[in-house]
Amino acid sequence: MKFGVLALQGDFREHRISLEKLGADVTEVRLPAHLDGLSGLIIPGGESTAIGKLMVAYKLLEPIRQFGKTHAIWGTCAGAILLAKNVGKDQPLLGLMDITIQRNAFGRQIDSFEIDLPVPFLTPPQPDYQLTFIRGPIITEVHGNARPLLSLPDGRIIAAQQGKLLATSFHPELTEDLRFHQYFMELAQSGYAD
Ligand code: GLN
Repeated sequence: MKFGVLALQGDFREHRISLEKLGADVTEVRLPAHLDGLSGLIIPGGESTAIGKLMVAYKLLEPIRQFGKTHAIWGTCAGAILLAKNVGKDQPLLGLMDITIQRNAFGRQIDSFEIDLPVPFLTPPQPDYQLTFIRGPIITEVHGNARPLLSLPDGRIIAAQQGKLLATSFHPELTEDLRFHQYFMELAQSGYAD
């Protein structure tokens, strides 16, 4: 299976390594033609404003929007922001998911943190998964066809899914634990639609 990682800005190399460890053939996507033949695309963490502006400059915004209507896309952190329909700010977005996001919801870089939580939908469901937050967003509203997938113990939503679209506030690519990448690869292969 061929997967793409959007490679305009941010930690795309870490995603590439995780996917390759699982046996995927990985393409770094910088131009619309790089989307051809992909089963799924990951939009990495980084700075959502910068990635969005580069997507406009490289004429990728509309092609990725179309790709996401029929294919799997996973956005981590900045990537999740780009998937959202509403982030309360005027910045270029794919707007594919029926979610509202609050950027930098946990504070500044210095407020970055890790938390171990059970993630029952992963295979295997145990042990707990180490979730890494780096100026991450919170998913404040999930509506339409989207559904919440994972929350912090205080109820704040940190992952959502809409058909083959997946948004996570945290960074599985920064851990050695490949279960989230495995989940995404299986989602991409599934017949799951909205
Ligand atoms: N704070 C960044 C943003 O708002 C996201 C941070 C990240 O991807 N680690 O775009």
